[in-house]
Amino acid sequence: MTTHGGFEPVFCTIVPPHVLDQLAQAEDPALAGPARRTLERDALERTHRRLTTVLGAAAVPSAADGKPQRTIYDARHGTDLPGHKVRGEGDEPGKDATVNRAYAGLGATFELFLKAYGRDSIDGGGLPLDATVHYDRDYNNAFWNGEQMVFGDGDGEIFLDFTIPVDVIGHELAHGVTQYTANLTYFGQPGALNESLSDVFGALIKQYTLGQTAAEADWLIGAGLLAPRVTGQALRSMKAPGTAYDDDVLGKDPQPATMDDFVRTGRDNGGVHINSGIPNHAFYLAATALGGHAWERAGQVWYDVLTGGELKQQAMFADFATLTVKAARERFGDGEELDAVSKAWEQVGVRTL
Ligand SMILES: [Zn+2]
Repeated sequence: MTTHGGFEPVFCTIVPPHVLDQLAQAEDPALAGPARRTLERDALERTHRRLTTVLGAAAVPSAADGKPQRTIYDARHGTDLPGHKVRGEGDEPGKDATVNRAYAGLGATFELFLKAYGRDSIDGGGLPLDATVHYDRDYNNAFWNGEQMVFGDGDGEIFLDFTIPVDVIGHELAHGVTQYTANLTYFGQPGALNESLSDVFGALIKQYTLGQTAAEADWLIGAGLLAPRVTGQALRSMKAPGTAYDDDVLGKDPQPATMDDFVRTGRDNGGVHINSGIPNHAFYLAATALGGHAWERAGQVWYDVLTGGELKQQAMFADFATLTVKAARERFGDGEELDAVSKAWEQVGVRTL
């Protein structure tokens, strides 16, 4: 694998492989078929990423300062990327709601990072934001491939259009921010932190867009994505990890909320989408204890740790928690922020060092 400038090629899908594995075993071929094809397609894309050189920020053309530079492409149900350009920056909305949602979601993500944290796009240097919609047929996923976003339409049976939840768009683009900053290794606890940071900023993008306080937010990831036949609300819950869905075909949400239920597994890159429930819940606890807009204080502390340069690629939960306590003190002094952050980690059973 070749990398330049310290960037590890990332291939993150919003629907983890263990969920699709479960679906692929469904008796109904209308359910199993799309899941199997999605798994095969994801494996191909993942291999492609390993063979592709990811260039550093210096090689990327810069957008105008403080303005997004978005381009939406349509794969027309094929798999060639990026596909046909259908909307550029500043173009009027078209008839395709999927294109319009992708464009708006990229804009919402850009805006949170700029307005709340002064970050110019995901690389901090005005990186143009590209997205491809209508990828493949019945494709049950969305992913960030290290360079762009890709969205499937879903099979309509289990999953709907992946551009529907803005937090899913934010989640995937936040992987880009992590890739350009702490670059957390995508395995085990550092991988679960990588996943959790994407859920945290995905949720914050949704809350920022809706103008919600921590108390008003649903703290769900992927609400609106599951088809009506599925018994569930979303892919994950930061408020109550393990309760997002419990379905005869999809299985049960496997996320733990605390270290007592930490899952040791080899699947899902050592449980990156499973144990992320623990740091997710810590963020929820800190944000709701503080109240108000979660991106302003809790989000600022998490952002400071992600981008501050001290977070190691191999960081464990305790390392991350310790850095959030330090960041809370540095940013807000010995006040309620420090207290809320410390208590949140204590409640999920992660000891700060
Ligand atoms: Zn992810």
